[in-house]
Amino acid sequence: MAIEDGTDFQLLAEYSADVICRSGLDMRFRYVSPSSFDVLGWTPEEMLGMEAFALVHPEDLPALAATANRNCAPGVEPARASVRMQKKDGTFVWVEFTARVVRDPSTGAAKEAVVTMRDISERKALEEKLSSLALTDGLTGLANRRAFDEALDREWKRTLREGAQISLLLLDVDHFKSFNDRYGHQVGDDCLRAIAIAVREAVRGTDIAARYGGEEIVVILPSTDTAGAVEVAEKVRSAVEALQLTHKDNPEGGGRVTASIGVATALSRHGGTMRMPESLLLAADNALYKAKREGRNQVATALLVAYKEL
Ligand code: GH3
Ligand code: MG
Ligand code: MG
Repeated sequence: MAIEDGTDFQLLAEYSADVICRSGLDMRFRYVSPSSFDVLGWTPEEMLGMEAFALVHPEDLPALAATANRNCAPGVEPARASVRMQKKDGTFVWVEFTARVVRDPSTGAAKEAVVTMRDISERKALEEKLSSLALTDGLTGLANRRAFDEALDREWKRTLREGAQISLLLLDVDHFKSFNDRYGHQVGDDCLRAIAIAVREAVRGTDIAARYGGEEIVVILPSTDTAGAVEVAEKVRSAVEALQLTHKDNPEGGGRVTASIGVATALSRHGGTMRMPESLLLAADNALYKAKREGRNQVATALLVAYKEL
């Protein structure tokens, strides 16, 4: 692929692992370096005439457009955007995308653009692994306490904005200490994993299930009132019972592993001082205590928590 000027530049471009391109002001490629085949699966010839943004994942276009706008200002260093580009085989690869306008030195008029794409898929895979490790509970695969705290904060703020309701389920396995004592800690761990799967299957995709503590699981139910939350809690409770895991020291549960669940709901209202979302957690904990006291393997609700903002 010949370019009109600069054989040194051509040499660099042709040997670079990055994809280096020139495009006209219509953002259609006029030169593409050979590494496009390794990075994207397209040959330079196939990419000529293509629009620079045509292969970018639609979700990444806004970030790229913002970067492109910043780069258009004269004298500005090229900003970078990490975007997914569609390869010839239809899959996506993460690249660092830079586009810079080339200007006529005397008039300052835009002449063309230089676009570079660097394969960053390995870095992205590592980042994703690290961030999922930081937010996932190792035993159950549910969200961990940190992820839960962040999610509750986020969902509560949204509840306030929307003037909506939010509910919490707090699940605690019944007589789990004696389960461990009788069957061993390893079987206890297997039991927790099975319960985590049952919980996840019983709730909606938009609900957030997390491991709250040792044998306690918490579920955030956004935009859900008490009646709806009790329905979900009952579904979760019966799903745990339906696992039919033997637990001889749980007479209240008929010799099977069971769980008790506390439900609390918060409304967003203005005019008071209650601290949220801590109060919601406390209310769910109180409800859980009530379910335990009244015989376990059941769902109990707390008094409706009405949040009143100052
Ligand atoms: P209750 O019905 O009142 O909840 O009784 P309980 O025995 O479940 O209550 P308690 O809080 O006294 O005991 C919780 C037990 O859960 C203590 C511990 O042995 C067990 N546990 C906590 N985390 C883990 C874990 O990660 N793996 C296993 N196997 N057991 C755990
Ligand atoms: Mg407990
Ligand atoms: Mg327990």
